[in-house]
Order: sequence, then structure tokens, then C-alpha cells
Amino acid sequence: MSQTHTVLDPATGRPVAEVHLATEAETDAAVEAAHDAFGAWRALAPGDRAALLRRFAAVVDAHVEELAELEVRNAGHTRANARWEAGNVRDCLNYYAGAPERLFGRQIPVAGGTDVTFHEPLGVVGIIVPWNFPMPIAAWGLAPALAAGNTVVLKPAELTPLTAIRLGELALEAGLPPRVLTVLPGRGAVVGERFVTHPLVRKVCFTGSTAVGKRVMAGCAEQVKRVTLELGGKSSNIVFADADLAAAAAAAPYAVFDNAGQDCCARSRILVERAAYEEFLGLLEPAVTGFRVLDPAEESSEMGPLISATQQARVQSYLDGASVAFAGTTPGGDGFWVPPTVVTVTDPGERIWREEVFGPVAAVLPFDDEAHAVELANDTEYGLSGSIYTTDLGRGLRVARAVEAGNLSVNSHASVRYWTPFGGYKSSGLGRELGPDAPMAFTEEKNVFIAH
Ligand code: NAD
Repeated sequence: MSQTHTVLDPATGRPVAEVHLATEAETDAAVEAAHDAFGAWRALAPGDRAALLRRFAAVVDAHVEELAELEVRNAGHTRANARWEAGNVRDCLNYYAGAPERLFGRQIPVAGGTDVTFHEPLGVVGIIVPWNFPMPIAAWGLAPALAAGNTVVLKPAELTPLTAIRLGELALEAGLPPRVLTVLPGRGAVVGERFVTHPLVRKVCFTGSTAVGKRVMAGCAEQVKRVTLELGGKSSNIVFADADLAAAAAAAPYAVFDNAGQDCCARSRILVERAAYEEFLGLLEPAVTGFRVLDPAEESSEMGPLISATQQARVQSYLDGASVAFAGTTPGGDGFWVPPTVVTVTDPGERIWREEVFGPVAAVLPFDDEAHAVELANDTEYGLSGSIYTTDLGRGLRVARAVEAGNLSVNSHASVRYWTPFGGYKSSGLGRELGPDAPMAFTEEKNVFIAH
């Protein structure tokens, strides 16, 4: 098997770069080097570790445009999104640079002595990243892991290694000691699997498909290895008849077609209260047909191509035979394009309603009342995110509490802020990333009793 991967520009299908894929022996060497670097990194004074992370953030900030340009060409992300994503890396680093001096333990009253707790770093953390958001998902793992005193080996997805490789270089430029952060492009079955089986990797932080996530979890069980899983989703956008329908319809395309629908939080199931169904669809159509699907390098582009020909064919397979209500357009050409498409569904057993399409496809289904909406929203193996549109705040909160998912928004489709927790219920994942507690997930809590 070839030890290189040809990175393609998804907007044109043309080669962009040739990337070496690490072997198992190279992975072992990187893990051992990261383990060797761990002692000095954890021993660094908290303020010094914080200062290095802030320097890393500053260097990323100085390279936002360069990183964004790489992502436009490597992943087909729109320029505006790619810029946001590079900024998100900077922001995560800055936010978690506040953590080293704040990894507080507790003092717990006991008889005959003093009891204190400590949050100790784990050692080497292996981070496995998917192709849909290469920069943010890398940062959500590496920033809190490094802040808590761990060293990191990070495997980008085969299709999208370029920004991760550059971030590894920028870390060194910022002054992080060598091997504190190692970026290892490679195959999932080689590098990813080795993170799972290598005994010196003490935690695996995996983001990707539910199928591979289950396998990673089962592999980690062998060593009782710590694991965080951020997996698939099939989230609902619930629109009640009392909602500001124009606002809900204007927002709905962004909730599912952003990043060409290759978003684990995509609200790909639109549930509309029957009384407002026709009116809502009438408002949704111009919002979808007007969605600007353009060359992602153009400043005004709102949606680019899919990541690969394989993904394009996979998404297309869901549309064959589907009841398409309306669709947008694409620039065409040799890239991996699929237009934003809305399909109507009558039976919640339909494949397009149940499976994660991971493309620019929204399925719409009417519901009768609040209880019916919650029942339909929860009728899925997934539980990552969701939206509720209503002007009744009580109902908004009630439904947000009733939907079994980790990230709900009322009258909004925002799911991700680096300072609020993120993660899934059910088959959407295990553990939480981001938010104030993320560094704790990269530590062991130790209890020490000192006899008086
Ligand atoms: P994938 O599971 O195929 O790959 C994800 C990563 O795992 C890649 O780096 C891949 O090389 C690696 N991998 C593959 N086989 C492996 C193995 N046997 N052992 C260890 N690592 C292995 O997923 P994908 O197609 O790249 O990404 C799309 C999926 O990711 C979607 O299902 C999406 O919902 C999910 N996702 C979830 C979140 C979230 O936060 N919940 C975020 C983004 C993407």
C-alpha cells in the first residue's frame, strides 16, 4: 500500500499536495517521544505552560489567513468558515491558557488529618480527528489536553491533513518544546488503531463516525484506557406554529447546509407543526434556492463542495427516489458538488429520515403537537444537537429539556462555543469537550490524606 496520500482540492478535484502517511513503527516512535517529553511539560510551572499556550495562540492568530487558505483548498470550506475555524483554534488556545493555574483540587474535612485532591495529567493523549472540521476539532482536544499538562499525538483525517501539519509547525515556532505536540498524518487503521493499542497512550479523544467510535471504545476497554467520543448526529429543528416563521425559515438552511451539511450538528430533520407546514415550506424555498453555493474561495460563498467523490456519491444515493420539494444550484465542474436539497417525508421509518446523510440534505416532516414533536425528535439512536423555534419561552425550555441531546438551542441554531460544553447523548458520543471543565477530562483526580 502506498505510504503517501494525494490531497485533492474538492472544488476542482485537482491534486494539492502529497502527504507522507506514518507507519506503525513511526507511530510507536512518536508516542515514545511524546512520553519522554511528558515529564518536563507537566513539571513546567503552571504560569509558564500558560504563557507558551498564549504564545501559540498569538502565532496562530498571525497565520489565520494562511491557515484559512489551506483549508479552502484542502477541505473546500468557504473562506468565511475557514477564517472562523482558524480563529477558533486561537480562541481555544487562549481560553485554555487560563487553565494551568486553575486546575484546582479540593480540601475535604476529615478526622485525624488533612485531605486534599489533585488533578494529575494522564500522560500521552492521542487525538483522532475527522475531515469535516479539521482545525476546530484538533484544537478542542489539544488545547485542554496540553493545558492540563499532557503531551499530545494527533492524527488528522487522511483527506485533510494540511492545516494540522501547519499547526504542528506553528506550535514549535511559538516555543512549545519538541514532541509536546506531534502531528502524525496517517491511516485510521494504522496510526489511529495504534493510539488505541499502544500502552503509553493513556487517553484517546476520538471524533468521527459512530461505527469507528464503537470500535475505538471496544479497543480502549482492553487497557481500561480513557476515551472521549464525539460521533454522528441526526438532529431536529422543531418549528412550532407560534414561532416567528420567517426567522425560522431564514435560519433553517444555515442549520443544515453550513459546511455542505458535513456537520455532526446539522439539523437535518426539520419538524414543522402541521398548522404551519405549508406556510413554512413556502418561506423555506426562497431561502434554499437563494443559498449561495459558489467556489469556496469567493468571499461571498455560503457553501462549497463535499469533501470527496465518495461522499458525493454517498449523499446522492440518499436522493435517488426521494421526494424532492426544492433544491438550490451549484457551480458544477469537476468538483464534488451537491446542491442544497429539501425533501419531504411522510414516514419516519424512511432511510433519509433515520440515517446521517452528512451532506446538504434536509428532510421535512409535519407533527401534531408538542408531545408528538418530542417523540419524533427522540426517535433516533443519536442525540447531539437540536433547535426549537417558538415564541413561548416555557415551551422552548420544556422541549429543550425533553429532547435527548447534548446541545439544544431555542430560536437559534448555534451549537458550539468554546466556553460551553459540547457532546452527545446516546450513540452521538461519550464525555464532553469544550467549556470550563474540559481540562479535567484530561486528568486523573487523586486524593491524598495526610495524618496529623
Ligand atoms: P471516520 O470515523 O471514518 O474517521 C474519523 C477518524 O478516525 C479519521 O481520522 C480516521 O482516519 C480515523 N479512523 C478510521 N478508522 C480507524 C480505526 N480503526 N481506529 C482508529 N481511528 C480510525 O469518520 P469521518 O468520515 O472522517 O467523519 C465523519 C463522521 O464524524 C460523521 O459521522 C460525523 O457525524 C462525525 N463527527 C462528529 C463530530 C462530533 O463532535 N460529534 C464532529 C465532527 C464529525
